[in-house]
Amino acid sequence: MKRTLVLLLTVFVLTVSFGLSIVATINPYYLILKELVAGTNNEVFLLIKPGINPHTFSPTISDVKRLTTADIVFANGLELEPYLEGYREVIFLSDFLPKEILLKDTHESHEKDEENDKEHGEFNPHIWVSPKLVRDYVIPQIVKVLLEKDPKNRENFEKNAERLINSLNDVVNRFDQLLSSYKDAVLVITHPSIVYLTVPYGIETLALEEGHGKEPSAKMLREIIERAKSEKLLGVFAEVQFNEKLLIPIAKELKKEIVVLDPLGVNVKNAVDYYKNLLEAFQRATGVK
Ligand SMILES: [Zn+2]
Repeated sequence: MKRTLVLLLTVFVLTVSFGLSIVATINPYYLILKELVAGTNNEVFLLIKPGINPHTFSPTISDVKRLTTADIVFANGLELEPYLEGYREVIFLSDFLPKEILLKDTHESHEKDEENDKEHGEFNPHIWVSPKLVRDYVIPQIVKVLLEKDPKNRENFEKNAERLINSLNDVVNRFDQLLSSYKDAVLVITHPSIVYLTVPYGIETLALEEGHGKEPSAKMLREIIERAKSEKLLGVFAEVQFNEKLLIPIAKELKKEIVVLDPLGVNVKNAVDYYKNLLEAFQRATGVK
């Protein structure tokens, strides 16, 4: 009898003191999850630390341990995390976007050498840069999973989600105000990380590289410059963690300042600041507040 009681008490204590162990593969999802679980005893871990390129990441032994013991792993999908194959409890957030929203990851210059284009899959994976997609598909899906795994914290999750969505509504409105007047404009960027943010406004991306570490040809650079000169140019963007040296002569010729974007939120502390930071980069590029 005594032993049963001790056992019951142990189980009770374990259940109460340990929440879910949740892993997010990339920083933007980690920031979102931290806000959604605020006020609960669930713990969120970031797999790919800021400063590491998610396209070339491979897990260490301690990462593998973390992934194996996690109750839930939130990943992007679209071939961004091929190393997650074989793990249970992985939710690929891009699976919950309507297929027609997904953007092809092809590029004119790459159709010729598909062989080398292994880093990205069929679709461009960077869905998290769009506050609209995150608000409408990613957050509802995360909340659904959290409610299934931890129904006792329903009130917290719902309250946190509502607050986050309200803040995102504000950012979305500000993006709409800023970018809706740039229909048919083009932008130059080191790699196509922000298409989910810009394509809905009719803005075309001229990316120097499609995958990663792939140098564009002189002919391709020339074409980008000619396009940017003949069309309405929104801006020239470099990205944190990307080598911007190829952009310098282009920006000079186009008489534009290089604006640095932070698509992984390396330098931000919370989800709303992540999107505000992206917005500020566009404000700097356009000169519009
Ligand atoms: Zn990328």
